[in-house]
Amino acid sequence: MTISSFRQTDRLSKSVQNIKPSGIRRFFDMASTMENVISLGVGEPDFVTPWNVREASIASMERGYTSYTSNAGVFELREEIARYLDDRFSTPYDPEKEIIVTVGASEAIDITMRATINPGEEVVIIEPGFVAYAPIVSLAGGVPVSIGTKKENGFKLTKEELEAAITPNTKAVMLCFPNNPTGAVMTKDELLPIAEVIQKHNLLVISDEIYAELSYDNEHYSFPRLPNMRDRTILISGFSKAFAMTGWRLGFVCAPSDISSAMLKIHQYTMMCASSLAQYGALEALQNGREEVERMVTSYRQRRNFIVKAFSEIGMSCHVPGGAFYAFPSIEKTGMDSEKFAEELLKEEQVAVVPGNVFGEGGDGHIRCSYATSMDSLQTAIERMGRFLEKHS
Ligand code: PMP
Repeated sequence: MTISSFRQTDRLSKSVQNIKPSGIRRFFDMASTMENVISLGVGEPDFVTPWNVREASIASMERGYTSYTSNAGVFELREEIARYLDDRFSTPYDPEKEIIVTVGASEAIDITMRATINPGEEVVIIEPGFVAYAPIVSLAGGVPVSIGTKKENGFKLTKEELEAAITPNTKAVMLCFPNNPTGAVMTKDELLPIAEVIQKHNLLVISDEIYAELSYDNEHYSFPRLPNMRDRTILISGFSKAFAMTGWRLGFVCAPSDISSAMLKIHQYTMMCASSLAQYGALEALQNGREEVERMVTSYRQRRNFIVKAFSEIGMSCHVPGGAFYAFPSIEKTGMDSEKFAEELLKEEQVAVVPGNVFGEGGDGHIRCSYATSMDSLQTAIERMGRFLEKHS
């Protein structure tokens, strides 16, 4: 071992050394050096935040609302979040004791893990899934345990799969429906058996419902609505996706008061509070943003319908994603693994997609295509992918 490599490993924590950088970045870096690239890679809306929301944030600045807010967030915003969750998803929470406004859903996931997981305790993660879950569990000292959902089941979790992953060390199950990257949604009837297993083993549930509004065929069914689940569920959501506010970094977490007060301790020492300017924008989004959300959802639904049909026309098998803004078609007939496929597609046809393997177990053999981009771009991307498939199958 050289002196410099000794120093490098010595000065970093073991936990950070053990996590890998996100596999998504590599493709963006490659794509950014090329010309004429159509990107279906990014996981964010192609809409700019609606004007009334931007205006409300500007007005808060003009009024001089530039100080720290209450640690848990502006009380009026928490009240509005409570009203919104109750009206939209029938999940009432107490704005005083059960809701914390966070720096994106990302911070909400982090403080949830740190407030609930002891070293060595296992958190079951449903994959293919959001790339941040496993690293955040590990950084909190927990052990992520993956379940690879299956295409034949529409990437939904089955109670048998969940039972098989549970050990005496299991503390919590992390759920995310509608799912990133598969777009899978689970109905109330499909969630009920999952809730029974959770009850039987006395587990916590962390339900990331950031895509709740983007559910195209059924009303979203929120996990804490299920019988006996509210008291063991931590509900995570935010403004990034449905309200087209990714850059504002604003989310929220709702949990029974013993858990939320523990999370608040971490949040107040590490963040103090979320951005005041973002909070005033979010207040407007909840008070007067319904029409805009519906307009964006209608547009995503049209694009979802287009891309699923287009994939089948070019011979790519793709289950119908019920929510979020991703399609997760199979590339198996090319015989390539997903990394190779994404790399070759980018080089040969200048279309950027994300290889399925970065989303964990069950992801290889697929690519994630975000359809939150213009219809023109989608059309051209499909033509290019059709050509690529003809050449390689
Ligand atoms: N959860 C899921 C499933 C996501 O896809 C994302 C963003 N890609 C997040 C959480 C993080 O969202 P935020 O911008 O609110 O931190």
